[in-house]
Amino acid sequence: MSKIAVIGGGIIGVATAYELAKLGEDVILFEKNYFGSGSTFRCATGIRAQFTDEANIRLMKHSVERWEGLEEELGSDIVFRQTGYLFLATSEEEVEAFKANIRLQNKFGVPTRLIDMDEAREIVPILNTEPFLAGAWNPKDGKANPFKTLFAYLFRARELGVDARGHTEVIGFERAGDAITAVKFRSNGKVESVRVDAVLNAANAWAPLINEMAGLSRGLVPITAYKHQLVKTEPLEPGQVEPLVCPPSWNDAYIIQDGEDGGIICGAGIEHKARSLEDYEPTYDFLRGVLEYAVRIAPPLRYAHVVRQWAGFYAKTPDSNPAIGKLLENFYIAAGFSGHGFMMAPAVAQAMAELISKGRSRVPLDWEWYDPYRFERGELRSSAFQIG
Ligand code: FAD
Repeated sequence: MSKIAVIGGGIIGVATAYELAKLGEDVILFEKNYFGSGSTFRCATGIRAQFTDEANIRLMKHSVERWEGLEEELGSDIVFRQTGYLFLATSEEEVEAFKANIRLQNKFGVPTRLIDMDEAREIVPILNTEPFLAGAWNPKDGKANPFKTLFAYLFRARELGVDARGHTEVIGFERAGDAITAVKFRSNGKVESVRVDAVLNAANAWAPLINEMAGLSRGLVPITAYKHQLVKTEPLEPGQVEPLVCPPSWNDAYIIQDGEDGGIICGAGIEHKARSLEDYEPTYDFLRGVLEYAVRIAPPLRYAHVVRQWAGFYAKTPDSNPAIGKLLENFYIAAGFSGHGFMMAPAVAQAMAELISKGRSRVPLDWEWYDPYRFERGELRSSAFQIG
């Protein structure tokens, strides 16, 4: 049994701590604030395998399979619903691009198909079909409750023996050669340290700061925080917008009905580089912009009241694909998840835990594609399709 420190109490860190404990490891998990306080509790709930490249399609196909069994595995209702994703095309060129994506997704067993606007209207009764030519529809995509999912993982992790510490900030490491030998942390003003055999950096937007503590340069894995926002309406009758609906050419705008309370979550790629890692202030520009898109997609939404608006970070690498892998002999990273960390968590956590514990994984994760050293080599992957 090895002693493994996981840094970051978002969905990636918590799920990986759980997977490591399942493999019999002795895990200590650090979260500097409250669990979920980073990007995880600010996300739009979406889960999809409709990506545009082989690596992300295969990873997400596996992740959706894990999501399908998660309620039973974790013994908790995480409100996972396979209500689909519906992407909408506004031009003939986009229809052709959708067809090419669908062929690629079908090749790896993702059952996306092209649908006409009559069928789209059956799926989303309040959809404005007029601006759209066709839809890419995968009924197996879905959504889940980020709060319940994180807590389900956390409670099971603790039951398996994980020492999960909230409000405990990692502040440094001891290093011997290429190995981290101890983690220094602070809680309630008290500084302590713990000897470790391995460390996972799952700090997402904060990951470059953790890398720096490990003696690596901040720019080695260049992750930048972009402010992303959402607004949510009052609860509407279920069945109005069950899938995530997105015309990508409208600035990646999307709407999706909360699987539990029925409010409509509205997002868009109206993003700004965050001024700091505390820059959570919602903006009026976003509110106005996103509602214009939402009402164009589903006109009856003009009568719904907005009850919440909030901001969080897309922690983005230059190619919008995460950095997943080994940085030093016993120092690993899974960070920079852009708009995809929630949906990828079940697969990435399993893969990371198997890599750390056994040196290899049976998860179909393309380690070369996500290699954290690719930026230093000047290699960029094709940009992962952005939205949540
Ligand atoms: P985080 O949840 O950010 O967790 C990292 C944690 O590390 C933080 O809690 C932080 O406090 C902690 N930490 C940092 N430094 C230290 C330290 N020194 N010591 C201890 N702890 C530390 N993804 C989807 O899959 N689907 C969606 O629909 C979706 N929609 C989104 C919508 C919005 C508006 C936003 C902002 C994001 C969305 N995302 C979505 C992205 C998703 O939220 C993230 O990719 C995911 O939550 C990342 O999880 P994480 O565990 O890597 O990071």
